[in-house]
Amino acid sequence: MSNTAPPLFTAREPIFPRRVSGFFRRLKWVILILTLGVYYITPWIRWDRGPNLPDQAVLVDLANRRFHFFWIEIWPHEFYFVAGLLIMAGLGLFLFTSALGRVWCGYACPQTVWSDLFMTVERWIEGDRNARIRLHNAPWSWRKARLRGAKWVVWLLIAVATGGAWVFYFADAPSLARDLVTLQAAPVAYATIAVLTAATFIFGGFMREQVCIYMCPWPRIQGAMMDPGTLTVGYRKWRGEPRGKGGVKRQQAAAEAIGSGDAVARYGAALDKNTAGDRKSRRGETLGDCIDCNACVAVCPMGIDIREGQQMECITCALCIDACDDVMAKIGRPRGLIDYLALDDEPPTQPRQSAAVAGLAEAPAGDVTGANAPSWQPKPLWQHVFRPRTLIYTAAWAAIGVALVVALFIRPEIDMTVAPVRNPTFVTLSHGSIRNAYDIRLRNKHGEARDFRLSLGGTTGLQLRVEGAADPVVDVPADTSRLQRVYVIAPPQTAAAAAPRSDLQFWVEDLRSGERAYGDTIFNGKDSQ
Ligand code: SF4
Ligand code: SF4
Repeated sequence: MSNTAPPLFTAREPIFPRRVSGFFRRLKWVILILTLGVYYITPWIRWDRGPNLPDQAVLVDLANRRFHFFWIEIWPHEFYFVAGLLIMAGLGLFLFTSALGRVWCGYACPQTVWSDLFMTVERWIEGDRNARIRLHNAPWSWRKARLRGAKWVVWLLIAVATGGAWVFYFADAPSLARDLVTLQAAPVAYATIAVLTAATFIFGGFMREQVCIYMCPWPRIQGAMMDPGTLTVGYRKWRGEPRGKGGVKRQQAAAEAIGSGDAVARYGAALDKNTAGDRKSRRGETLGDCIDCNACVAVCPMGIDIREGQQMECITCALCIDACDDVMAKIGRPRGLIDYLALDDEPPTQPRQSAAVAGLAEAPAGDVTGANAPSWQPKPLWQHVFRPRTLIYTAAWAAIGVALVVALFIRPEIDMTVAPVRNPTFVTLSHGSIRNAYDIRLRNKHGEARDFRLSLGGTTGLQLRVEGAADPVVDVPADTSRLQRVYVIAPPQTAAAAAPRSDLQFWVEDLRSGERAYGDTIFNGKDSQ
């Protein structure tokens, strides 16, 4: 036994994923174009909100502490909308992960999307896998410098565009673009672009899978959300092993004959053909469907071999499915040796010799759907997607969504908060009246200045004074909030002056629209201490 401790650091082995085509690759293209399109274009969408309000559809207005999303405007005191959306995003991830594994990682995570984009650029400039490996191993030359330089320049342009797009979410995009070009933008804008450019360039160009494996906590969290009923990318070991290259012949006729049956019948017929002698090694040993061509490994952006079983590094991008399906088509075998599968659907044993456990090898040729049909039937896909766990996540997700939509539509146009001044709780005036002070915050969500009239409700006999004004009307400029100190006075001998506490309501009326709202509070009398 060796006493040598494993090294704490191992240098990254570069990965050169091969180009692949197929359904999942096309799906990744669609999602890549959609996500990048949304990210780069969104800040440039205009939205007319009226005078004095920003006409950018999506804007995080830090200066005025507002978030604009098309017709929705979120103020700081309405942060619960943002919290609700974050909870919905988390529940959505739980939902997708428990049903379909790490689909977020494989298709929509920014690290995956930008790495994919950078790899595409790399492939365009340096060639596919073998050409890139040759270039990597070659000594520096003019050609290598030219190709590397071109690749890094394109990467850098993408990285600058990425950092640049981010800052446009925080200011009026056309104005900021002009300021950036004329060097008049705020230093923080340039700093943000520089940091995000560097992060995109390094993470997408050089670190790639290392970010997922070593920096991101999500793979560990997602592992806990998956169970044997989750659909994930896996290798059908019982069908593929023992793997080997010997005795491969085309089985087009068999494939056509079984082309219209269900999945199990297809496997059964194919395996019967197989045991008839088409997939024999040179030693006469019966082989599985895997011809050990390594195509699934060559296309994997994480550099792993899915045939070794479930691995934390796998982002379920399914490119290995496309690669293997392509190979299966070429050798006339049914697709799905590598597939989206649920582990609890798979036979409990692995070797082909044990395929009888799955009821496959015992089925005689031509009679795989009758009395001798395989006993093993995988559950339909929908049963993996719609399970109690995913239904609970869906219900919770939908409930929060409905609550947010309802809250959005019933929230008052007039917003007011009342904060009693506690120090002191009351003041006794020279003529014996009791005075309480309150800070009232009025929010004007409109694009023009508005006047709000304050009045009192609840306990009677109280008088209202607005600090700095003769009448109880407060003007609030457009799209701002105003904090106004007001006083409530209870003349001597009134019930409110003598009682420890009395209920009090502040009413506010928008003088332009006539809308009214109120806020509850307490009046402290002289016995309140
Ligand atoms: S691509 Fe399919 S056949 Fe080729 S090594 Fe991978 S699993 Fe085996
Ligand atoms: S093994 Fe590799 S190619 Fe296959 S799904 Fe996982 S990460 Fe993607």
